[in-house]
Amino acid sequence: YVPLRGEDGVDLPGIGREDDGLKGGLNGIDNGRLSFDHVRIPRTNLLNRYGDVAPDGTYSSAIDSPGRRFFTMLGTLVQGRVSLDGAASWASALGLKIAITYATQRRQFDGIDGQEVVLLDYGKHQRRLLPRLATTYAQIFAHDEFLQKFDGVFSGRTDTPADREDLETLAAALKPLSTWHALDTLQEAREACGGAGFMFENRLVGLRADLDIYVTFEGDNNVLLQLVGKRLLTDYAKQFTGKDAAALAKFAVGQTAGKLFHGAGLRQFGQSVADFGQVARSVENGLREEQQHLLLAERVQQMVADIAARLRPGAKDKALGSKLFNENQAELIEAARAHGELLQWEAFTDAVHRVEDADTKKVLTWLRDLFGLQLIEK
Ligand SMILES: Cc1cc2nc3c(=O)[nH]c(=O)nc-3n(C[C@H](O)[C@H](O)[C@H](O)COP(=O)(O)OP(=O)(O)OC[C@H]3O[C@@H](n4cnc5c(N)ncnc54)[C@H](O)[C@@H]3O)c2cc1C
Repeated sequence: YVPLRGEDGVDLPGIGREDDGLKGGLNGIDNGRLSFDHVRIPRTNLLNRYGDVAPDGTYSSAIDSPGRRFFTMLGTLVQGRVSLDGAASWASALGLKIAITYATQRRQFDGIDGQEVVLLDYGKHQRRLLPRLATTYAQIFAHDEFLQKFDGVFSGRTDTPADREDLETLAAALKPLSTWHALDTLQEAREACGGAGFMFENRLVGLRADLDIYVTFEGDNNVLLQLVGKRLLTDYAKQFTGKDAAALAKFAVGQTAGKLFHGAGLRQFGQSVADFGQVARSVENGLREEQQHLLLAERVQQMVADIAARLRPGAKDKALGSKLFNENQAELIEAARAHGELLQWEAFTDAVHRVEDADTKKVLTWLRDLFGLQLIEK
């Protein structure tokens, strides 16, 4: 598309090339930069699969809708994000496999019967590793759904503009969560293996170094979550289009603070969490699948509704709108994160329902509860 070197192998005039040098990880991949100074690129050498420019400068595209065109082009990025989400989830799994294996073999200090205790029998060690294991399962099940959606769109079976937009939003929600989780998990796994965890041959430090940049490339995590947050706000606003004043007023009354704990008997569960001071005990008191789902789903709804209400005064004033948006940006990103966590929880639960073997189902249900409860605790 753009010739860089002449027949003699020397850079053509106006072409600059540089290696990026040593990076914080992923040094098995070379990164570099190209610069062009007064280099003319033939119009016919454009990457013009979806759009073209005529000799007189007019733009044309086979895809009429600008929205559809935008999401078709963005689709290319989804391939990277789906890969990153999978790689990060499996890196977390690998880190935990290493740390849990170590924890079931390594003994430290006396137990009751005089035998040294394996690390995994320590309460703190369980607390460090098992909730992360539960999250990793949730992410892998969510990744599977992401792959199915990706396959649907890219095979053309379910390739409408709405499908592409959904895929884009799913990618933007899941990639940040799995890549941040991978860094957190690899660090915890490294520490959980003590000094052995720091040895390069035990893989944890190498994985951590290589995974570091996953939170940034193919879309910075916070920027991606902001995209999800905007979609949540748009979907939220859509419920009101065409509604009359009475319906809106009724809705506003429903949006009182603390609604979360007043609906569907949830207050009782919230109270039992507070009484026991421990979210784990409350599962015995009935914080089961439906209640977990309600709490997690209403958390997202409440967060989005609160932000939408704070943004409303800026609806007709662009400057005020930007100011309010910026003031609420951090909360919007948190709402997007909560939405991603809900998707993971739902994917985990659907997967549990599909399991036929009774014992596997039982253990996976425990693990799903652990995932749900740690979110509620947080
Ligand atoms: C090893 C490596 C390989 C890469 N490979 C490719 C490649 O093959 N092709 C390619 O096109 N690109 C590639 N990239 C570029 C990569 O996609 C960008 O680095 C990434 O999108 C982040 O952009 P940036 O570096 O400009 O960060 P910046 O945009 O400068 O972001 C810096 C910080 O500011 C925050 N920030 C930015 N905007 C906002 C906002 N609106 N609101 C709040 N916070 C904000 C971000 O969260 C981030 O923490 C690569 C990068 C690396 C490091």
